[in-house]
Amino acid sequence: MNDSGTQTGAAGGGIIYVLDTSAIYNATDYPADITLYSTPGVLRELRRVYRTERAELFVETRLRIAEPARGSIEKVREIARRSGDISRLSPTDIEVLSLAVEMGALLVTEDYSMQNIAEAAGIGFISLYLPPIREFVEWELRCLSCGAPAEGSGAKECRICGGKLITRRRRSRPLRE
Ligand SMILES: [Zn+2]
Repeated sequence: MNDSGTQTGAAGGGIIYVLDTSAIYNATDYPADITLYSTPGVLRELRRVYRTERAELFVETRLRIAEPARGSIEKVREIARRSGDISRLSPTDIEVLSLAVEMGALLVTEDYSMQNIAEAAGIGFISLYLPPIREFVEWELRCLSCGAPAEGSGAKECRICGGKLITRRRRSRPLRE
């Protein structure tokens, strides 16, 4: 995998994209010199829900599948807990994010929570169709009735008054250009 060409910041000197399910299903013509990766969870999702000949051909001819290390998954889960995105991310989302972080790759996704985590983890992201996020947001869960913060991301109702919990912005900052 040694490459005498210019270093572009990814393993082996080439550019790597890590693709989520939508980035494969909606695959455009990714430039031929970019290495494309995804994860076993995405492959299962793709074949279970979005199976098309076009997607299958793309998987067979263009895509490499790799699984992130446990340590990378733990790191991403911790970032997602801190930002408050954890409840909005599926195990497959976490897997894709972890692989992108581990490889120092560019993440291709339309999902705003995943883009938020990519920003927090210090990797770049590309959105194929929707405008990408312009700010990093930390979310928190608070009671709609009494305003008390929820304990833990899995809480269903307010521990003080039993009121409904809503997700609110705790703080945000614009993305670095
Ligand atoms: Zn309350």
